[in-house]
Amino acid sequence: MRNNTLVISIMLGALILSSGCETVDVTDSANRTELSSETIETVERKIVDIDVPSGTVMAGEEVFIRVQILDTNNQTQWYETGFEFYSESENLYFQDNMIRLPEESLTDDIFRVEIAYETMKKEIILMVANPLSQTIDDKGIVSNPTSYDVLINKNRSLPNNYIPNDLVTVEVPTCLPNPEIRQLRLVASDALSEMFSVALEDDVELVARSGYRSYATQASLYNGYVDKYGQAYADKYSAQPGTSEHQTGLAMDITAESVNLQLDDNFGKTKEGLWLSQNAHRFGFIIRYPEGMKDVTGYFYEPWHVRYLGVNLATNVYDSGLTLEEYYLTLENQ
Ligand SMILES: [Zn+2]
Repeated sequence: MRNNTLVISIMLGALILSSGCETVDVTDSANRTELSSETIETVERKIVDIDVPSGTVMAGEEVFIRVQILDTNNQTQWYETGFEFYSESENLYFQDNMIRLPEESLTDDIFRVEIAYETMKKEIILMVANPLSQTIDDKGIVSNPTSYDVLINKNRSLPNNYIPNDLVTVEVPTCLPNPEIRQLRLVASDALSEMFSVALEDDVELVARSGYRSYATQASLYNGYVDKYGQAYADKYSAQPGTSEHQTGLAMDITAESVNLQLDDNFGKTKEGLWLSQNAHRFGFIIRYPEGMKDVTGYFYEPWHVRYLGVNLATNVYDSGLTLEEYYLTLENQ
């Protein structure tokens, strides 16, 4: 009954307004306003909730969505069909009520997705984490060797046949002639070029020394140490084949004339080493083996060894003050 009155009142109001009549009764107008606000309360439909997985999601994961809508009769109902997704992020795949994250999604990537149902819209945010426990098999071999956020250390090896398929020769000054180690994966090489040229603007002259290192090269280095000095020495000073981050094609040892182009702890105190430690993250690199963290990283201080992670993740790791291992562990506990 009340609704009928409302409709008639609105129709009357519309008639009065559309007639161009200037003698609209003030009382009537006030009355209409009051009724209109009631109208909004009772008829506005809206998305009141979206059921998405809580916490973070992984690269390649399929996320299923349900949307709860408050209906005209003030009842809520869950819907699994009939809505659409919009996102500015490329490579997201949508089907029915499913969102699939790109396989190449990196830890700390963020995807914003707008969910529309009829004229109603609401945004959700998906945060990516590729936890260590989910990216390793029972033999300690990582399952995501091509990912820019892969974590390689003495407990997490690359497959022994892994060779990045996008290695290029770096375009920065190098000091060793070996063609293999002058390579990096394309994105890391581009980031390195940018970093070196910005460093030069700050009057800092960096030199690349050793980048990609194949499994075969690691095996021959390691076996050479074992033959010459024994297993214990080899394990202390050389990575077991497959455990060198250099095999990712995302790590580069950097030096400078100030340390005679050697890999030297003192590099960390030079103008070049200080610049690198303070700026590498801006280009997507971190100093992978900080001082005093051997118990965590497995390596003594290496101020020269940078690892590409992409700008977003590298910056977050840098800001956290943690090693990459510790940073990943904090994600695991989320
Ligand atoms: Zn290195």
